[in-house]
Amino acid sequence: MAGTSEPERGEQRLQSMLRCPACKGALEWSAGSAACAPCQADYPRRNGRPDFARAVMPATEDAEFQQERMNHRSLRGKLYDLGQRFITSEYAPFDHRADFMAKIPPGSVVVELGSGNRRLTADIINIDLFMFPNVDAAADIENTPLADNSADFVILDSVVEHVPNPQGVVNEALRVLRPGGQLFCVNPFLFPYHGYPAHYCNFTRDGMRHLLRGFSSAAVEPHYGPTSAVVNIISEYVAWVIAGERRTPYLAIRAGMLLAIGWLRFLDRWIIRSPQSHRLAGMLCSIAVK
Ligand SMILES: [Zn+2]
Repeated sequence: MAGTSEPERGEQRLQSMLRCPACKGALEWSAGSAACAPCQADYPRRNGRPDFARAVMPATEDAEFQQERMNHRSLRGKLYDLGQRFITSEYAPFDHRADFMAKIPPGSVVVELGSGNRRLTADIINIDLFMFPNVDAAADIENTPLADNSADFVILDSVVEHVPNPQGVVNEALRVLRPGGQLFCVNPFLFPYHGYPAHYCNFTRDGMRHLLRGFSSAAVEPHYGPTSAVVNIISEYVAWVIAGERRTPYLAIRAGMLLAIGWLRFLDRWIIRSPQSHRLAGMLCSIAVK
């Protein structure tokens, strides 16, 4: 369309994919809201972005700190992010997400469910329960406003552990994917509790295969290996047993532990090649085809 800017085209494309999450009816768009004629639901738009969830992040100290980090607002948040890149137990010998993203053809419809505040590519569609600055539509990801068969690729990166009903979210990804479309999913297995806002469950390889059984195929592989898992859990154990809820001593002890033993994670470069490495994997990566 002549005279239509790139962001406007993106908005039009998104609006054409969106339906009422309650009844899947067509939406009528106005400046301030998206209205559903069939069921009379009226969803507000915040800075133009539809809010189907109207959810408010719980105001816990942990949630505030995580938001501070995600928005890069404070020096403390920036320093924590920088430190965490080097002082960490986390190590993926294979960058599964980059490999997956690299194979996505230009012009594909890519949706990240539970995106948080990041934006992986310029034209990705970000959906999250909370209306972070980079979220395109706020919605319950178990019941999204996306039309059936509307997406070529769906990403669930460290999300299924944070929802009360992981099967509901995976089934929703299956519904919105077109036949032949692909789901990319990363989830923790042997990985400590991490809230923001809640952490419900971790999955084994069998658990992931079961969760993805509705797809025509699913490949589940270790993403973080056994040494990463052990280093992470030992560091967390020592820091938490000594410091408890006191955040600054906790962070200091955890950083000290990771400086001492974190380098061991690189052993996973070899260990992860074992067919049995999923037994102690820190995280798993799944690619499932509808
Ligand atoms: Zn409706």
